[in-house]
Amino acid sequence: MANPRSETVLAMYDFMQGFERTELKVKSECEEMVVVASLLDCFGIIKKDTFLNDYTTTLNIPGLIEPTTIFTNFKLGVEVPGGRDLWTQMRTIAHEKMHARQISSGVLVFDARYLESPYRAWYESHAFIVNCEMDNWRWGPGAMPDPDLLAARLKSYACKQVDIDQAAATYKRLQWTVKMGGIVSESFAALKPFLDTEGAYIREVA
Ligand SMILES: [Zn+2]
Repeated sequence: MANPRSETVLAMYDFMQGFERTELKVKSECEEMVVVASLLDCFGIIKKDTFLNDYTTTLNIPGLIEPTTIFTNFKLGVEVPGGRDLWTQMRTIAHEKMHARQISSGVLVFDARYLESPYRAWYESHAFIVNCEMDNWRWGPGAMPDPDLLAARLKSYACKQVDIDQAAATYKRLQWTVKMGGIVSESFAALKPFLDTEGAYIREVA
């Protein structure tokens, strides 16, 4: 089994700049993210330390964070013990580029709506399907996470149960399309030519 090389991860990011252009910063090194973390904690969406250490976040807040920036909880292309492995980093970038596309289709709408549970569930479910497509591309359909377990992850985004149930239904529908050989997300569609060439050495299924 071949694991991604660091230069592949970096090249993938550069390639995805052609899909949605973003800045890239390490979250824990950014003062403004400490402010955002406190705000999210106040809204009851996520605990401050969890947000800073456990999650990568993509934001565009007019007047505060521009252009759209991906704040990672890892240094891209660098694997550290207990940290994100390089495949997880690739999936994370593809996921966050999907958020960048959601943002560029209406940034103010995204910021305002992300604070509401049903929209948050919608945005996340349409970004986590990118992770499913990545796993399916590399390992095959059996590697895609169970839709109910995937939807349950939205609990840590403080989504309401009704929205989590809706997300589970969305995953079931979209995963079926992926299993049938379809491409669901714009992010994966943009990335696939890179995976099929420069990333081909890490693929486990024909
Ligand atoms: Zn997300």
